[in-house]
Amino acid sequence: MTKKTVFELINELLIYAKKNLFLSENDLAYKRNRILEILGIDTLEECEFFEEVSDVEPSNLLSDFVDACVEKDLFERSEAEKYTDAVMGELSLLPSEIEKEFAERLKVDSKSATDFLYGYCVKNNYVKKAVLDKNPRYNAENGLIITINKAKPEFRDAKKAASGNSVKGGYPRCVICAENEGYAPRNKRNLRKVDLTLNGTKFFWQYSPYGYFNEHGIAVNYEHIPMHIDRETFARLMDFVDTIPQYFIGCNACLPSIGGSVLAHDHYQGGGEVLPLQKAKIAVDIGSEKYPDLEIGVIDWPGTAIRISGKNRESIIDFCDKVRTVWANYTNEELGIVAKDGDNQHSSISPTVIKKGDTYEFSIILRNNITSEEYPAGVFHAHPEFHIIKKESIGLIEAQGLFILPGRLDEQLKSIKDLIVQRKPLTEELSDFKMIFEEIKTLCNGDYSEENVDAAIKEELSSVCYRILENTAVFKDIDQTVKFMRKEVYGE
Ligand SMILES: [Zn+2]
Repeated sequence: MTKKTVFELINELLIYAKKNLFLSENDLAYKRNRILEILGIDTLEECEFFEEVSDVEPSNLLSDFVDACVEKDLFERSEAEKYTDAVMGELSLLPSEIEKEFAERLKVDSKSATDFLYGYCVKNNYVKKAVLDKNPRYNAENGLIITINKAKPEFRDAKKAASGNSVKGGYPRCVICAENEGYAPRNKRNLRKVDLTLNGTKFFWQYSPYGYFNEHGIAVNYEHIPMHIDRETFARLMDFVDTIPQYFIGCNACLPSIGGSVLAHDHYQGGGEVLPLQKAKIAVDIGSEKYPDLEIGVIDWPGTAIRISGKNRESIIDFCDKVRTVWANYTNEELGIVAKDGDNQHSSISPTVIKKGDTYEFSIILRNNITSEEYPAGVFHAHPEFHIIKKESIGLIEAQGLFILPGRLDEQLKSIKDLIVQRKPLTEELSDFKMIFEEIKTLCNGDYSEENVDAAIKEELSSVCYRILENTAVFKDIDQTVKFMRKEVYGE
């Protein structure tokens, strides 16, 4: 096949946008000229339009476009993202047009509204679906979901999280501020978001370009104010699932090391997948006559988590907020739980909710970020022997059983596999994997065939993730959790 020219590819992009991004026929010539301007060229050889554009997402088309432009010295390969972002931003509808379409669909059917928005964000290349689909991912036998995120660098800087990666006094104030829509320096020209009102406060919803699961997105406060959880949070989360009942939504614990990567800006995370915690069963029913319209239980889960279900919003808010305030002030030195030292708060909760019919189902995870001499990264954080697999904060998504492991593991585990299959010892370079390496070999049970080693690696990874969740458990057995609930929350 002969390679297409830049001009041909621009035409193809225009047809693609007409087909997939609602670009009007009348705007084709105008948009072509805008793209020429982005590329800094005045003219190119004429060519015909290709009417055949079958792509449902633009990654192949954009990759051909980048190749052709680099070959013609229109930009460097290292600048490719800047240019594809500019072109796709130009070919996308204006935010107000997206908002209007979403709002109209939402009046009729929330799924049609989110299908439209998510589809649009994939087609305009904001959500990098093709990259995401390449991430290894599997459902483990122990109920967890394990993914390796090859798209995003490992995030280790807790200080950056507190500042939300912002430059003091800069514009936009942080990476998730509403003002990012269309902002070139962060390649947000093709970002499109939609408005939501949560308990009377203006929020917006946007998808993550490198989401961790199906239709992963964030609901963000229009105001740049710090993450916090209070009584109102529960009402806001319920308003979200009232509006978009096919999604779950949750809030990270708002403390460093156990929360999200942007603590400086109030936001929630959610999306279109039922996570393992939400599927987990109740281990002990602790329903009480004191709360007649609620079902309450301790969840059968390696972390410490309570489930609260009901239809009555006020009862749910009262109860969830009671758990929050009691937990925030609960110290049990014998168990290593320290709620506060001086002005430093160490205990917080992480609530998530799904809607089943007209019943709200909350899962509340109890979290604590205290450190000790033995565990400088956190007593209830992944312990040091697991850091080679996961060192970053165990945030809301992982605490619910979907693990996002660093991309480097993909190569490292391939090397480990090769060593085991070839019956070679661990190399110096991979010496930090000593425990993992030995455990995988034990799981192989003498059969070092490729297939068996692959299976053993998967089992080992999910077992490590399970043990990490056990590390995060503030109560190490269910009875302790039941005792805490009955004594401290119920006052029995
Ligand atoms: Zn912000």
